[in-house]
Amino acid sequence: NLHLDVLIIGAGPIGIACALEIKKQNLNYVVLEKGALTNSLFNYPLNMTFFSTSEKLEIDNIPFISNNPKPTRNEALEYYRRVTTSNALNINLYETVTDLNKTEHGFKIQSDKASYSATNVIIATGFYGLPNLLNVPGEDLPKVFHYYKEAHPFTLQDVAVVGASNSSVDAALEIYRKGGHVTMIVRGEAIGERVKYWVKPDIENRIEEGSIKAYFNSEIKAIKPTEISINTPEGEKTIANDFVMALTGYQPNFKFLANAGIEFSEDEKHIPSYNFETMESNVKGLYLAGVICGGMETHKWFIENSRVHAKMIAKAIENKAD
Ligand code: FAD
Repeated sequence: NLHLDVLIIGAGPIGIACALEIKKQNLNYVVLEKGALTNSLFNYPLNMTFFSTSEKLEIDNIPFISNNPKPTRNEALEYYRRVTTSNALNINLYETVTDLNKTEHGFKIQSDKASYSATNVIIATGFYGLPNLLNVPGEDLPKVFHYYKEAHPFTLQDVAVVGASNSSVDAALEIYRKGGHVTMIVRGEAIGERVKYWVKPDIENRIEEGSIKAYFNSEIKAIKPTEISINTPEGEKTIANDFVMALTGYQPNFKFLANAGIEFSEDEKHIPSYNFETMESNVKGLYLAGVICGGMETHKWFIENSRVHAKMIAKAIENKAD
């Protein structure tokens, strides 16, 4: 059983960036990824466009060329795929890390396929794997989705979109434009503050003119095969419904992090503890990279501002070896 210098968990953009840096130091490493390469991006809506311009999504200064300033999902998949293959990165796909334990000289890592030992571990597991549930009766019906792919299946259908952030707004507009009958159910009193500035007027105007129906200050209460009930300020309403798109955000796997010994801030943000210069967590030799660093604040870190974590961690590991 080969001992690794570094084991990286997650082959998202940031896990890949870490692999590039670790490889430069001629260290012995492997990346374990539970799904496809850049699995989160793969699961994004088919027609999504990034809010970042392509150069801000580049890792290790490898040029990311896109047709328009803001790249599409397909272009991003092409980019990270090409970066991975042309650098011959050592990545095992479809291998889920199930357990991570500190040992005297490093870590023991268990996956669903093999066990490993490593001196250092980098966790770059993101947050897109676990949807925030509505926790209402009927949520387990097959007509309820927590990920949105494309609009075609919803043409001529009554679709409830739960939430008012970017994912919900993009889905609502797309489904409406492909002939679906959209009702948005929004807990707050307005469309989310962080909705892309060029999309916000579009959704607000569609709601205002009545093309998309919206219930604000409202919550979905129960889901049945052909209808849903909603708690609104005017009382409970029951409306006809074919599909529910519950896009109420996602969260990191806190249980996995806690099992590895990572501590969190006591507030509702649940921010994991780490050193802001080295990205080393409170567990020695265990580093955090990418969006996972924000805890419940999943909008705080994204590709653009967290790609630097890779160089910070590689430097910290290098300095430790000196
Ligand atoms: P991820 O990309 O989520 O990668 C984590 C990887 O770890 C996944 O592939 C996952 O399968 C894997 N994994 C998880 N658990 C395990 C395990 N136990 N074992 C093995 N593997 C595991 N950011 C921007 O900078 N610009 C944008 O324009 C932008 N647009 C976005 C649009 C949408 C619709 C969404 C949802 C996000 C957007 N983001 C954007 C955010 C960006 O996608 C994330 O910040 C980015 O994916 C974070 O990269 P990461 O490598 O930290 O995590």
